[in-house]
Amino acid sequence: MGGAALLFAAVAARPDTIVLKNGRRIAAMNVREEGDKITYETSAGQLSLPKSIVDHVEKGGVAVADSPVAAAVANLAITPPAAVVVPTGGGSEVERSTVHDGAIDREFIAKMEGGARGGDKRANANAALAHHTAAQFELAHGDMEHALQDERTALNYMPEEPVLLMNVAYLHLRRSEYKESLDFLERARRFAPDHPDVAKLEGWAYYGLNKLTEAVAEWKRALALRPDPEVQAALNKAQRDKQEEESYKENESAHFTLRYSGAAEPALARDVLRTLEAHFSAMEAELNFTPPDSIGVVLYTQQAFADITQAPGWVGALNDGRIRVPVQGLTAVTPALSRVLKHELTHSFVNQKTRGHVPIWFQEGLAQWMEGKRSADNADALAQVYQQGRATSLSQLEGSWIGFSSDAVVSAYAWALANIEYIVENGGMGDVERILDRLAAGMSTEAALREVLHSDYNDLMQSTAEYLRKNYGH
Ligand SMILES: [Zn+2]
Repeated sequence: MGGAALLFAAVAARPDTIVLKNGRRIAAMNVREEGDKITYETSAGQLSLPKSIVDHVEKGGVAVADSPVAAAVANLAITPPAAVVVPTGGGSEVERSTVHDGAIDREFIAKMEGGARGGDKRANANAALAHHTAAQFELAHGDMEHALQDERTALNYMPEEPVLLMNVAYLHLRRSEYKESLDFLERARRFAPDHPDVAKLEGWAYYGLNKLTEAVAEWKRALALRPDPEVQAALNKAQRDKQEEESYKENESAHFTLRYSGAAEPALARDVLRTLEAHFSAMEAELNFTPPDSIGVVLYTQQAFADITQAPGWVGALNDGRIRVPVQGLTAVTPALSRVLKHELTHSFVNQKTRGHVPIWFQEGLAQWMEGKRSADNADALAQVYQQGRATSLSQLEGSWIGFSSDAVVSAYAWALANIEYIVENGGMGDVERILDRLAAGMSTEAALREVLHSDYNDLMQSTAEYLRKNYGH
C-alpha cells in the first residue's frame, strides 16, 4: 500500500486542501496568501477566496481533473414499473413456463403466439405476458436490446395495456432514448391517466431532455398520487438544478445549450461555446460519429458547483448527462479550461454513441487521451506495478469508481489512459470506433475487445505494459 502510494507520486501532483470556516473543503494546487486573499490553481485556472472565510490549509490530497463519469441520467435510481397486471387466468403458469431452468423457452412463447392467432382475447393476453416475462428476464441480465424487442412484441398483442406501454417506455429511458420513451408514456396516459408510474417515468424522460420545469411538474404529480422515495429523491435533485439555473442566462450554438450564472462573463460564455464547437468538429471526424441530441453545458461559480452537484471537493468538472464546469474568476478560455472541456465533451460523445453502455475505464481513458494526456510520466511506475503482479485488472475498473481510495482513483485514471493509448497507437482511432460500435450494440467489453483486438483483458494489460516499457522505458 505504502509502496504503491510512493510509486504513484509521479502520476499526479498531490494538491492541498483549503478548509473553509463553514467546513467545506476545496482541493487546490499551489495555494498561497496574497494580501487578504488565498489564491490557488484548479484545472479551470487560477481562483481566489477571501482569507476571512478560510479556516486552514491542509497539505496533500487527490488531484484528478474530473469525476469518473457517471451516466447519471440514464442511471437514475428508479425501478421498473410495478409487477405486471396483465389480466389473464393462468398468469403465473405462463410466467413459469416462459422462463425456467435459467433460460427463456422460445418454443413455449411460439406456442402462445400460435394460440393468439385466432384473435381470442385471453390467448392474446397470454402471448403478451410470455413476451413481457422474457423481457423482464433479459432486463435483469442487462440485455436491453432483446428486452426492448420482447416488450415491443408483447405490446403488439395488447396495444392498449398501460403496464406494457410503461415497460417499453422504461426500457427506452434506460437506453437514454427520452423522446421515444415519451411517445409510449403519452399513450399509457390515455389509458391510465392517474397512474403514478406514468408521471414518475414522464418526469424522468423530461429530466433526460433537460426540461426541468416539466420534470418537476410530473414528479410532483406522481408524489401526489402515491408517496415514493425514489420520486422524492429525483424531485429534490431536479429542484436543486432548477433553482440554480433559473438565475442563469442561456446561449445556444449548433450543438450546445449553455447556461451560466449572471456572475460569469458573457464573453467567457461565448468563448466556451466557440471552444466546444471546435472540439466537437475535431471529435466528430476522429470518432466518425455525430451526437444526435444537443449537449447541455452549465458553467458554475465554485460555491454553486459544490452546492448543486454535491460532488466531492476534489472534482474539477463533471459530466452527468450535462457538462458541468466551475469557472469562477475566469474571463476567457485558458488552455487548461479548453482541455477540461474536451475531456468532458468526450464523455458526451461516448455516452450518446453507446447509450451509456461503456465501462468507466474506457470512458476515462479516451477522455484523457482526447484532452491530450499521454502516459510518459506514469509509464515507469505502471510498468513496475504490472511486473510485480500488483496492477488492477480492467474488469475491476468497469463499474463505478466511487468508494476507491485516493491512490486507487489515481491509479485507475493512469491505467485507463495507458490502455487507450496503447489501443490508439497500435490500431488507430478506427479500433476505438469499432469497439464503441460493438458496445453500442450491447456487446460486453471483453467480447468487443476480442473481436476488434483479438485480446481479452489480460492480453490487453500485457500489451499495454509492454508498450509502456518499449515506448517510454530507459
Ligand atoms: Zn472524465
